[in-house]
Amino acid sequence: MLYRSTRNHAETAASTRAVLSGIAPGGGLYMPADLNADAFHWQELLPLSTVEMSRRILQHFLPDFQDMEGIVTRAYDGKFSVPELTPLVPVGDKYVLELFHGPTAAFKDVALSVLPQLIVAAKRQEGVTEDIMILTATSGDTGKAALAGFRDVEGTRIAVFYPRDGVSAVQKAQMVTQEGANVRVCAVEGNFDDAQTGVKEIFVRAGEEKLLEGKGVILSSANSINIGRLAPQLVYYFRAYADLVRMGRIQPGDPVDFTVPTGNFGNILAGYLAKCLGLPVGKLVCASNANNVLTDFIRTGTYDRRRPFHKTVSPSMDILVSSNLERLLYLLSDCDPDFVAEKMAELKEQGAYTVPEKLLKKLQKEFCAACCDDSRTEETIGRVWREHGYLCDTHTAVAFDAAEGYCREHGGETPMVVLSTASPYKFPAAVVRGLGETPMEDEFAVMDQLHDLTGVPVPAPLQGLREKSVLHREVTAKENMINYVLEAIG
Ligand SMILES: *Cc1c(COP(=O)(O)O)cnc(C)c1O
Repeated sequence: MLYRSTRNHAETAASTRAVLSGIAPGGGLYMPADLNADAFHWQELLPLSTVEMSRRILQHFLPDFQDMEGIVTRAYDGKFSVPELTPLVPVGDKYVLELFHGPTAAFKDVALSVLPQLIVAAKRQEGVTEDIMILTATSGDTGKAALAGFRDVEGTRIAVFYPRDGVSAVQKAQMVTQEGANVRVCAVEGNFDDAQTGVKEIFVRAGEEKLLEGKGVILSSANSINIGRLAPQLVYYFRAYADLVRMGRIQPGDPVDFTVPTGNFGNILAGYLAKCLGLPVGKLVCASNANNVLTDFIRTGTYDRRRPFHKTVSPSMDILVSSNLERLLYLLSDCDPDFVAEKMAELKEQGAYTVPEKLLKKLQKEFCAACCDDSRTEETIGRVWREHGYLCDTHTAVAFDAAEGYCREHGGETPMVVLSTASPYKFPAAVVRGLGETPMEDEFAVMDQLHDLTGVPVPAPLQGLREKSVLHREVTAKENMINYVLEAIG
């Protein structure tokens, strides 16, 4: 399967090369030239284990990799606390798809367990001898999951940038205590969009100015702009569907709706790609917090990032520029790179763009959108706990609220799956407030408080975090990120 840049069809790559590069040379994102859906028989996946599903889906999506079986086995073996990786839990008349049972208690683990294995394999197959330097901007969860995934992986190094005041204390502690000889962690004076823009600029400048020539290092990305990050995320849509069949809730072929707490649009785009491969996905409900740029876009066709950036209790969704939306524009425009390049230039230069009516109609056929603010998020946590005895994190609560709204308006026979992207213990203060209690001062004490209130077990990776020593204290101005990277490379 050949990959092409969303902005320029002359930029092509095999899937191995697309994974190594992360982003296309001109700033576009790699997408398959043809999804080849006719050759993909999704029904055959239903009886399989999650790991075997992963192998089949990744082999289809990234066909140039020679040993996908070894890749997924090494990726998942012993890393998740449940054998099915992503269990589906009935909550009231909905289903919660729990994606947080991996090594860092966030859904990013599903993909970032696989990506390092893909990169090592791609390096070998492509005969690349340089080290791969992973640059990652994080709104909190990607950073830790990437650090855990790449830690001491031979031939790789990783630098993670997080917004200094934009992550929870638990998230920060997870990152700054990361061990490993090949890892760097640095705070950026700015928000997530600053960090992400900074990383993108490093890629562009390193290419244009040949800053890394002769240094024995190639840059790559662990953000969901990397197709190797996106592909493993298709799997849990199939897993959830198979579980609904197994539970007798649906027959193969029946539609299922999904609500996805959305930031960079990677998670929900994976759902759309699963649909493109034949999975009977009904509506994809895009749930946002007060940073509701996607809600407005899906409702009106105008994407406008010129608005205040809100720091919310669901910080992994505090994003105004959702990178993977570019891939959706590409697909919905029938793979028109000139159209995508034009819209992305408008976004960069004017801060906004509007899509044609025809594209908006297509978009609204597949997606709908809702948003809620922090007080509603916390209210939802309390309500879901009282009504169903289910404890959800802030991101999941945003999605649960959106799912309830959707079902009130359109509800019928179609099951609704709500994707749960983090353990409630990653954002304990807001969760405790949601339960109607006052959180204690220290965020680590709040984890104990939440445990005392609910009895829900603290995930193993979050236990003992407060005793770990801080290993990373660096802070950089956003303009200086490139120098930080050059210095790290040496
Ligand atoms: C990353 C993240 C999201 C947003 O996912 P995208 O793929 O960026 O849309 C939502 N919730 C949590 C907890 C996350 O870590």
